[in-house]
Amino acid sequence: MRRSRKVKILATIGPASSEQATLKKLFEAGADVFRINMSHADHELMRTLIGRIRAVEAEVGRPIGILADLQGPKLRVGRFANGKETLAVGQTFTLDDDTAPGDATRVHLPHPEILKSVEPGHRLLIDDGKLELKAVRCDGRSIQCVVVAGTSISDRKGVSLPDTDLPVGALTEKDRADLDAALEAGVDWIALSFIQRPEDLIEARRIANGRALLLSKIEKPQAVARLSEIMELTDALMVARGDLGVEMPPEAVPGIQKQITRAARKAGKPVVVATQMLESMISAPVPTRAEVSDVATAVFEGADAIMLSAESAAGAYPVEAVATMNRIAERVEKDPTYPAIINAQRSTPEPTGPDAISYAAREIAETLELSAIVTYTASGATGLRAARERPKVPIITLSPILETARRLSLAWGTHCVVTEDATDLDDMVDRACRIAVQESFAAAGGRIIITAGVPLGTSGATNMLRIADIGAEGSPRK
Ligand code: PGA
Ligand code: MN
Repeated sequence: MRRSRKVKILATIGPASSEQATLKKLFEAGADVFRINMSHADHELMRTLIGRIRAVEAEVGRPIGILADLQGPKLRVGRFANGKETLAVGQTFTLDDDTAPGDATRVHLPHPEILKSVEPGHRLLIDDGKLELKAVRCDGRSIQCVVVAGTSISDRKGVSLPDTDLPVGALTEKDRADLDAALEAGVDWIALSFIQRPEDLIEARRIANGRALLLSKIEKPQAVARLSEIMELTDALMVARGDLGVEMPPEAVPGIQKQITRAARKAGKPVVVATQMLESMISAPVPTRAEVSDVATAVFEGADAIMLSAESAAGAYPVEAVATMNRIAERVEKDPTYPAIINAQRSTPEPTGPDAISYAAREIAETLELSAIVTYTASGATGLRAARERPKVPIITLSPILETARRLSLAWGTHCVVTEDATDLDDMVDRACRIAVQESFAAAGGRIIITAGVPLGTSGATNMLRIADIGAEGSPRK
């Protein structure tokens, strides 16, 4: 089984897609990685879902990535005596430390540290910005606000504070418990929500301790401002347009999407474009033209992965949504304008062996019109450097480590196969040729290019390039 596209599809799973049969259909329709949203899944459900995904993986014989998305410090107001209230624009409304049920003048904000950090003039966006408040008086225990726009508020609605530097780390108590459970259950990627600063990655990194890679969701202006530092410390990024479009004007998001995608491509770290990509498919079997164009834009930018949220988790057409994304991606990548657009953003290789070799491998593969680039990669690092080149020809990554193959399922253009380390150079060439044919990337008589580290089996030492002719039997022509 091989995909006929380079960009990967990340599908969020939920009530509409948690059965094993549905998960298999999502995979067959094009989902490469599944996202479990820890805001909605308890540990038992998470383990059940992971078990089902691993069963599908065994059935289809392809590595599948699993991403556990931690909720992060999502702030919420307390409850109201009447469940909800209607406010008037211009009135005052107070958030405070009083646990008594709220009314039309005030409500509890169960985050004492936030009450201390907001300053007059800061905006408080409630319920994804549907209600906008502006702080006018702050005494450390209450924030007196004026209602700027919107009128309704109800129990436990989310609060975004785009102007306030929050004195909270990225991991809450719930996140720590979820992180432990997710690592224990063997997920491949951990997504961190609402990070603000590079330090926010440190604790999760220490706890994960190599068991999973970290993906930073960029959904706060504070994180956008410190993108380059976060880029250094993270393994991957997400352009989390849902919350980003609340915390910043939505019209700022497309430009930021381009900035983040370009910076991630330059760094060679996978980047996911997320949220509302096919939003109307939550309730309709076909997307809008604007949504098709949005998905296409992310593919043209060379994003590593495009994501479905409610479309695949809670919508009426989860399989159709994945199939639609798959079709758009295949079509865009075949468009005559695609190569020039992708190549325009290619960065020069860094002065390292793996980069120089990845660069040369792409040049040679494209010059000679080879069938595939085959990279031996233990940790996946060389696979990512090969993907950073965004070559026209397919990349086959070979690793003896199943976890590496699963992690790489998020990375652009990589088809990952688990295979033992080669025993010698002949075996290395033989194995690469056989797998390229087996996986339908090359045919007898074709040619591939192989990159590897010699001596074989040493990680981080990619230093070799070899062009191999495939003989009639699918093994190298001697
Ligand atoms: P979420 O993250 O779906 O977990 O909120 C993505 C986003 O904010 O865009
Ligand atoms: Mn979000």
